[in-house]
Amino acid sequence: MSSTAEFDGLVAVVTGGASGIGAAIASRLTEGGAQVAVLDLNPDDAAEGLFAVAANVADDASVRAAIDAVAERFGRIDIVVNNAGIGAQGSIEDNPDDEWHRVFDINVVGIARVSRAALPHLRKSPSAAIVNTSSIAATAGLPQRALYTATKGAVLSLTRAMAADHLREGVRVNAVNPGTADTPWVGRLLSSAEDPAAERAALNARQPHGRLVAASEVADAVAYLASPRSGSTTGTSIAVDGGMHELRLRPE
Ligand code: NAD
Repeated sequence: MSSTAEFDGLVAVVTGGASGIGAAIASRLTEGGAQVAVLDLNPDDAAEGLFAVAANVADDASVRAAIDAVAERFGRIDIVVNNAGIGAQGSIEDNPDDEWHRVFDINVVGIARVSRAALPHLRKSPSAAIVNTSSIAATAGLPQRALYTATKGAVLSLTRAMAADHLREGVRVNAVNPGTADTPWVGRLLSSAEDPAAERAALNARQPHGRLVAASEVADAVAYLASPRSGSTTGTSIAVDGGMHELRLRPE
């Protein structure tokens, strides 16, 4: 097998694949030989050539219809990347209950909806894999991110539980924990800051390697976890965070 053909013959679903990290994952899996379907609120933003389906991961009927459309188009589903997610800012005092429910519904329950709709197809795959996008927020306490962090911690725990439930069905389940990544999401956060340049400098400085994470770097980790070559890797996570979780450097 050539190094660019590891996903040949496989079909991947990437939620939130029309922007940022998801778009980079869709592109990386396509490069690796997969046929990729993007499920997104904004399918028109997906890169040309991808099978883009309108779907809201917070809506079960919409998810089931989208998974059916992918299965009908390609005849199989081997890989699911649960990447769609939204942010939330503030401490526990800052978000009303309905915002807690809304963000959990997308970031956590969305993973359950998409995965359970795809499972009948994954069970038939010779190398089924689910990869969930968690975050550095799941493993490090960040200020003003209480609700978001709670959802991403849940993603990490859910990943392990799913890995245990589906191991013997041949479905591996892993997570990727990106540090602050240079995506439209972070672009929106920066442009809403009082001083976007200072805010970007502060985010860069928070990274031990001194810069934001590239979406393509996260995509390479997802490709590793999704690959048929990673058959012994399940129930774990890879941090792609420039060392933010594990390292303690002295100030320069
Ligand atoms: P982004 O906003 O650039 O892209 C998110 C995509 O998800 C968009 O295309 C959006 O339309 C789609 N989406 C949002 N809600 C959806 C829904 N209900 N149903 C279907 N699609 C939906 O964001 P990003 O920065 O690429 O983030 C992607 C994932 O990575 C998220 O889960 C986020 O929590 C995680 N993450 C991001 C960073 C970062 O710094 N950017 C760091 C760690 C983790």
